[in-house]
Amino acid sequence: MTQQDLVVCSKCGGVNRLPAIRNAKAAKCGKCGNRLFSGHPEDVDAQVFDRQITRSNLPVVVDIWAPWCGPCKMMAPAYEAAAQELEPHVRLIKLNSDREQAVAARLGIRGIPTMILFHGGQEVARVSGAMSAGQIVRWVRDHLPMATA
Ligand code: ZN
Repeated sequence: MTQQDLVVCSKCGGVNRLPAIRNAKAAKCGKCGNRLFSGHPEDVDAQVFDRQITRSNLPVVVDIWAPWCGPCKMMAPAYEAAAQELEPHVRLIKLNSDREQAVAARLGIRGIPTMILFHGGQEVARVSGAMSAGQIVRWVRDHLPMATA
């Protein structure tokens, strides 16, 4: 963890420089004024997705889902609970694979729900199937021992 963290707003894609990630829970986006970590994983479009992966220096988890997917809907509360535990050390976002088909194709998504963990712009891990909040948190921490200690 660096002294200054680059945090990308999930609402507008604005890049914010935070002096200490520890105080980030109350921080607001300098561009749109929304909280940077609302506790509710935002459903992002292709542009904000790319900015989260490439411009933020936080690890990023993306939950790829679709409105017709029962297991995705079942996992939504667990994913939100995991965000409340993992943020602001890890950024959690959602991507609707029906609305953002080009991104889903680029990621090679075969089934949903699928979660992909990125760090430093690279895919670190990927898992498919619905998981509980505890399983999600453990899965992320198992792959990022340093960032989420
Ligand atoms: Zn913003």
